[in-house]
Formats: sequence, C-alpha cells, structure tokens
Amino acid sequence: MAGLRPWLQLVSQGWQNWSGLVQCPGARIARPGDIEALCRLIEHHQGPGAIRPLGSGHSFVPFWANDDTLLQMDAFSGLHDVKATADSTVARFGAGTALHAIGPLLANHGLALANMGDIDRQTLAGAISTGTHGTGRKLGSLASQVTALEIVNGKGHPQGFTTPDDVAMARVSLGLLGVITAIELCVVPAYHLHECNTVESTDACLDAFDERSNAHRHHEFWWVPRGDFAVAKTLNPIAAEGPVQLVEIPFGEAGERWGPSWQIFPSTREQRFNEMEYAVPEAAAIRCFTAVRTKILQEFPKLPWPVEYRLVAGDDGWLSPTGGEAVATISIHQGADRPPEPLFTAIEPILREHGGRPHWGKWHQLDAGNVDRLYPKAANFRTARRQLDPGAVFLTAHLAALFGYSDIE
Ligand SMILES: Cc1cc2nc3c(=O)[nH]c(=O)nc-3n(C[C@H](O)[C@H](O)[C@H](O)COP(=O)(O)OP(=O)(O)OC[C@H]3O[C@@H](n4cnc5c(N)ncnc54)[C@H](O)[C@@H]3O)c2cc1C
Repeated sequence: MAGLRPWLQLVSQGWQNWSGLVQCPGARIARPGDIEALCRLIEHHQGPGAIRPLGSGHSFVPFWANDDTLLQMDAFSGLHDVKATADSTVARFGAGTALHAIGPLLANHGLALANMGDIDRQTLAGAISTGTHGTGRKLGSLASQVTALEIVNGKGHPQGFTTPDDVAMARVSLGLLGVITAIELCVVPAYHLHECNTVESTDACLDAFDERSNAHRHHEFWWVPRGDFAVAKTLNPIAAEGPVQLVEIPFGEAGERWGPSWQIFPSTREQRFNEMEYAVPEAAAIRCFTAVRTKILQEFPKLPWPVEYRLVAGDDGWLSPTGGEAVATISIHQGADRPPEPLFTAIEPILREHGGRPHWGKWHQLDAGNVDRLYPKAANFRTARRQLDPGAVFLTAHLAALFGYSDIE
C-alpha cells in the first residue's frame, strides 16, 4: 500500500555491509525525502528494533537486522550553513553527507575538517555515531568536534541537542537516541598536508614512536606480521604552494605525497577485510601492542594483514571509546574471505586486559555488563535512550544485547 503512503518510499530490498559480513537479504530499504516523511516513517514503525538508519555500511557489526526497515539518508546531505564566532567556526551539514563530499564543500569556504581517518567513504552521521577517528596526539575523534545535533526521536518528533551535556550524550550514540538529520561541527582554516611513509624494523619504529608523536601533527604505524616490520606514517601541515602530488603511496613502501588535507588523509581500500579495534589508555598501549605482537607471531605468523596503531585525544562523549584520557587505538584486520573469529577471539582478551574499549563499528564481543563497567555514564545513557525512544524502535538485536531489552517501557 506504499501508493497510499507517499512518505513510505520503499526503494529496494536487501542489503549488506562493505565487507559482506552483515547480510540482510530481507530488509526493506526506505528513503525519507524530508523531515516530515522521516517522522511519519518512524511513527509507522513502532516496534522494538523496527527501524535503523544506514550510513555507507562501513561498520563490521550487525547494527542492522533482516526484518528491519533500513533508512537510506542521502536526502539529508550537503552543507547548510557556516558560522564564524570570535573563537571558532562551525559548519552545519546534513547528517547523510558523505565524508568525501565534505572536503570540497568546506574548501569553497577556505575551511577543512581538523582531522580524518583512513578513508572518506563513510557518512558524517555514521562516522560520528560509532566514534570514528584519525590519528594525532592532540586531535580528538570526529564526534569530538560536534557542537550540535538535530534528530527525530523514537516517537517521530524532531528534537535538537545544543547544551554541552546533551551533546556529550549524543555525539557517539549508535543511532539509539534517534535518527540524526543534521550535524554542526567545528572546522578549521583549510590546510595542506605532507605525508611521509618509511619502512623500518618494528623495534626502531616503537623506539621512535613517542618522540615522533610529539614532533608531528599526525603519526601512526602499521605493523606487518609476515616479515615483522613496520610502516611509519607522518602527516604535517605545509604551505599551499606549487604543484600537488596526490598519487597514493603503495602500502608497505616508503614514499611522500602532498596536497589539500582532505585529499591526503584518505586512502583507497580495494581489498575487503573485517576489523576489530580497541582504544587502550595511552599509558598501557605500547605494552598492549607488544603482547598482541607476541601472540600474533606465535599463533598467526603468516597473517598478511597489518595491525594499525594510532593516537587519539580524549573527549567527553558518554559512550565514546576515546572518552576521558588520551588513548592509542590498536586495529586488527582479517581478510573478508576468512572467518574473523579465530584471530579476533585470540587477540580480544589482550586488548580487554589492558583496559581497552572497542570501536563501536568494529567486531567485538561486549555485553551489557561490560558496557556498564567500561562507561561510567552508561546508566545515564540508558535512561536518556528510554525517554527518547520508549518503544525501543531503534534497539535492534545487536544493540539490545548491549543496551538491554529489559528496559523497554
Ligand atoms: C575500509 C574501512 C576503513 C575504516 N577506517 C576507519 C578509520 O580510519 N577510523 C575509524 O575510526 N573507523 C574506521 N572505519 C570504521 C567506520 O568509520 C565506522 O564503522 C563508521 O561508523 C562507518 O560509517 P558509515 O557511514 O558507513 O556508517 P554505518 O556503518 O552505515 O552505520 C554506523 C552506525 O551509525 C548509524 N547511523 C547511520 N546514519 C545514522 C543517522 N543518520 N542517524 C543515526 N544513526 C545513524 C547506523 O545505524 C549504525 O548504527 C573504517 C571502516 C572501513 C570499512
């Protein structure tokens, strides 16, 4: 009866995530064209876990279920507004804007994002909802830059979050408080970056890590188990003069390139993989990495996929894996053609023993009890979730295991 309900707009059926690990062949895909249609859609889907927005599907966990209605959010995209105050500049975007679209949109205003991760294929809402980050000792996650959000809650009502406490609650919220329609975030004057990659022994890379992390705006390394060597990467601002060199440095090779920040941060990822990543307090992180390295060399010495090590400044997000003190993130990859469990379950206890908290968009085995132990504000978040979505419309099975069905009113 979609003809009688023009706001329903079912555009297709069936969906899978980027890596193919999450398959929803029966899911219905709807495309709300505006806020009014989105409100009506949510009102129409009043059942536990009935509805869930899609970003670009670059998460590795089953946020989405086969019997859900999934929302394609591309109608909510673009740069809406730029405001400069005495001490900051904020830009307001449609929540479904792809990160790769943000660079050119901001560049038209002489602006840029302060930091970006390894790729730019995600949507802004998807990226902030899971705490997506880049690297840099003094730089927080993308969500840490958010100053205001607009959502439609589980009752189908539009609502804004603008106070510091509300924004801290909502900046990383896994789509549990509502469907985000617009996001305002701090941006910085446009800048060019120089990228330099070196290939070195793992021990030399570890010895230099601290000093390099202080000396460079961004520093990270990739450790390659097969061969036990490291690729260290630094990124630094440079003057925007002369020709740019944008050609990507092949992974595992030394090289340099330079150009506008939004063209240098992201790389292309052609080979599909699954990933587990934990944010570990910085003080324990090199010890943790060393234990991970030992385990992989003992049990998975031929692993062809690298381990990535990055730094992220802490933030105030109630559910932010990078919340609190500065952290190092340690990411383990396995090819999408292999079952991820043997590798990930062998390594996960090490990451947990060192006080790690998982990236919400990447493979993990947390349960509700772990969430309470790892996040001091988890109970406050559950209360807010219940108020904003009393029918648990957004609480799909994966999230119910973390945030509990028992609290449905
Ligand atoms: C190749 C690759 C590279 C990656 N690199 C990095 C990296 O460098 N750093 C890093 O931290 N992570 C990285 N990730 C992980 C990725 O950034 C996160 O999983 C991110 O959430 C994906 O964004 P997305 O737009 O694909 O969102 P999705 O994965 O589609 O969705 C993520 C969550 O957000 C929710 N959501 C989406 N839109 C909305 C909305 N409008 N309102 C409310 N909730 C919404 C979804 O329902 C879901 O719960 C990478 C992933 C891949 C596959």
